[in-house]
Amino acid sequence: MSKVYYTKVEKKEDPSSVSKKTSILLKKVPFLDSISKNDLVGIKTHFGEKKNIGYIRPNVIKRLGDLLQQKSKRVFVTDTNTLYIGSRSNSTEHLRLAHTHGFDLSNIGIPVIIADGVTGRNFTALDIEGKHLKSVKIASDIASCDFLLCLSHMTGHMQTGFGAAIKNMGMGCASRAGKLEQHSNVLPEVVRTKCIGCGTCLKWCPANAINFEGGKASGPTGRRAGEAVIIQEKCIGCGECTVACKSGAIEIKWSESIRNLQEKMAEYASGVIKAVGRERICYINFLTHITKDCDCMARDEPVICEDIGIMASADPVALDKASVDIILKTNNKDVFKTGYPDIDWSPQLEHAEAIGVGSTRYTIEEVRA
Ligand code: SF4
Ligand code: SF4
Repeated sequence: MSKVYYTKVEKKEDPSSVSKKTSILLKKVPFLDSISKNDLVGIKTHFGEKKNIGYIRPNVIKRLGDLLQQKSKRVFVTDTNTLYIGSRSNSTEHLRLAHTHGFDLSNIGIPVIIADGVTGRNFTALDIEGKHLKSVKIASDIASCDFLLCLSHMTGHMQTGFGAAIKNMGMGCASRAGKLEQHSNVLPEVVRTKCIGCGTCLKWCPANAINFEGGKASGPTGRRAGEAVIIQEKCIGCGECTVACKSGAIEIKWSESIRNLQEKMAEYASGVIKAVGRERICYINFLTHITKDCDCMARDEPVICEDIGIMASADPVALDKASVDIILKTNNKDVFKTGYPDIDWSPQLEHAEAIGVGSTRYTIEEVRA
């Protein structure tokens, strides 16, 4: 049985009270006392998308950062770049967005670092013994951490039913190539009618897997004749070309089944645990402003149930199971299935438990903060 700590949060509770409660929960989990001076401590979170307001607030990060810095000065807050093109697909735009949401050194007292590098290429490969994967690609600066605090805002999700700690670890800590590997079981393809022959993808491809073919007239001077074609035998599925192409001509096939996607996500989470160390990660879920879709949506999402509270544990599976259980119990229905009736969220929990990420069996201790 894993231990899960829980504290209630009232509707529209004062942000300073929420941050105080979070720091009290963090002190309950065996984590802080193990951190030594000079340990590299990452806080993994999500900085939100444009117009989205669901992300965990900077004042919470500041309070936790202050607490962690009493142990080590090498504390930073982090996320990874997205698989798809958008305002978080490279570190320059990602950091700019984080800054506009209040995540910068002057405001939160710790640096913001995008863990997979400027272009999302930096990863550490780790061998695992998964059902689907034998190796995972974890963002380098997360894999380098001595300790990791995984802060997850729990929401619904169109493919995983809900997203919380397992998703934040598995998908959120993967490099672009790792995210592509989870979402797709086929390699990207060029839509030849959209290709303008600019050659940018050729420059970016690390595997020399792009050729030019066809008789389409070349573009302005310096552009290539024909259209790009991906040589499937050479392609390593890194996904670089999909964000490099400004014409949107290289498409990701979001082809992986719901079950396999969730199982791969759990396997990636096991890779992060392998990199950092099981006893060196603490997980906190925020069951507040719970929405049908995740914080990657560039809109103010309507909430699907009342605020419930904050939960913390050293076991991500127990934490996610306890989180989903309390949400369903409080609402007397599966609010995640109301949003996506065909999506079963249980494979992420079942597979994570099967491969040793954690246990679905837990006890809850309510913390009065
Ligand atoms: S970057 Fe896009 S438009 Fe340019 S050659 Fe490659 S596929 Fe075509
Ligand atoms: S996915 Fe990576 S390896 Fe494959 S063509 Fe695109 S850039 Fe090259």
